Amino acid sequence: MAEFSLSLNEDQLQLQKWIHEFAVDVIRPAASEWDEREEFPFPVVEQAAEIGLYGWEFMAEAIMNDPTGITLTMAIEELFWGDAGIGRAIMGSGLAAAGIMASASQEQVMEWVPQCYGTADNVLLGAFCASEADAGSDVNAYRTRATYDEATDEWVLNGTKAWITNGGIANIHVVVAVVDPKLGSKGHASFIVPPGSAGLSQGQKYKKHGIRASHTAEVVLDEVRVPGHCLLGGKEKLDERLARVREGKKGNAQAAMQTFEATRPAVGAQAIGVARAAYEYSLEYAKEREAFGRKIIMNQSIAFMLADMATEIDATRMLIWRAAWLGKNGKFKNAEGSMAKLKAGRVSVWVTERAIQILGGYGYSREYPVERWHRDAKIHDIFEGTEQIQQLVISRAISGLRIE
Ligand SMILES: Cc1cc2nc3c(=O)[nH]c(=O)nc-3n(C[C@H](O)[C@H](O)[C@H](O)COP(=O)(O)OP(=O)(O)OC[C@H]3O[C@@H](n4cnc5c(N)ncnc54)[C@H](O)[C@@H]3O)c2cc1C
Repeated sequence: MAEFSLSLNEDQLQLQKWIHEFAVDVIRPAASEWDEREEFPFPVVEQAAEIGLYGWEFMAEAIMNDPTGITLTMAIEELFWGDAGIGRAIMGSGLAAAGIMASASQEQVMEWVPQCYGTADNVLLGAFCASEADAGSDVNAYRTRATYDEATDEWVLNGTKAWITNGGIANIHVVVAVVDPKLGSKGHASFIVPPGSAGLSQGQKYKKHGIRASHTAEVVLDEVRVPGHCLLGGKEKLDERLARVREGKKGNAQAAMQTFEATRPAVGAQAIGVARAAYEYSLEYAKEREAFGRKIIMNQSIAFMLADMATEIDATRMLIWRAAWLGKNGKFKNAEGSMAKLKAGRVSVWVTERAIQILGGYGYSREYPVERWHRDAKIHDIFEGTEQIQQLVISRAISGLRIE
């Protein structure tokens, strides 16, 4: 087990520098255009794939060969410092990969995870499809149904998933569906819907407040038939698990929740990347801009705002790194992943709002990036567990009570 340390090692520092350069040279210059176009930035993701930044090998290296758990959060902070919409476009397939790894066999991981990324010559995407229009936080309310057809050894999927990153444009869709409605969220299972499966289509594409370069859409499943081996973890394990739950024994944690729990420090890192971008920009601005015959930073009200912004960002990064390390070493105790994500979303929204304040009228203009960062920050209070859901998870962990 690696010791927890705040100093990055040589490999981590090199990786950080490499991603930062990509963010400066490629992501930042493209950010405004793709935000305005509100389209998936394929050319940028292809460039990321060419240098090996988008790909399952990169993710495997960043996750598997890092005993500290911190490498991925550090990489994500740099990407999102570049731009959150493009950052999400590059990282979105990781959610599908995490969804697969949460419940798949080793063979299934090897078969499907690479197909969530493709190659530098043929970039592919993955999508993790859990949420539904009437079931976001409330995972008990999923209605998408999976029924087993014994005659053909196929699963038949029906339902509509909502708010899905890369939904409908992905090669691999990982779908969480109800296999036994009587068991609530314990009756769920995850399925791979392979490319070209008949009956899967994209529903509406959402027009969003922020992270507009990231594609978010409904996924419609109409009598989608997938082979038996597309059930993640396999039928034998599923049957055993369902039998345990029916007998009242403790089942595994819910499929969707497992995925979200593992990704929370990374989501916090996204948020803090956006916050840092806004903080650095407003610091430089405050040192340049003059009012009443002096630089605006010479007013304590502005300088103290920047001091608070820097402090909040650094404090949040500590929580994220702690959570990443605890998660990697199986030491979560008081929902530290949720704490990191909760704090990061709030800090990101607050810091980006303060950055607008420091830029005054210019901060409110689309000619300057801070209004975009403010729009981008807000999603971190919402997806992968809202602010209130993080509070719920933390309050249950610290109290040991089933707080409602
Ligand atoms: C841009 C974007 C991308 C997304 N990508 C994906 C994706 O790739 N895959 C996927 O599966 N989903 C995705 N989502 C869905 C996202 O995870 C949900 O939007 C989120 O979980 C919230 O669900 P909801 O929107 O239904 O809100 P609701 O659950 O309806 O919540 C509404 C409000 O009620 C509060 N609330 C709900 N229950 C409680 C409670 N018990 N206690 C206190 N307060 C409560 C919430 O905190 C919130 O403030 C995405 C969403 C967005 C916006």
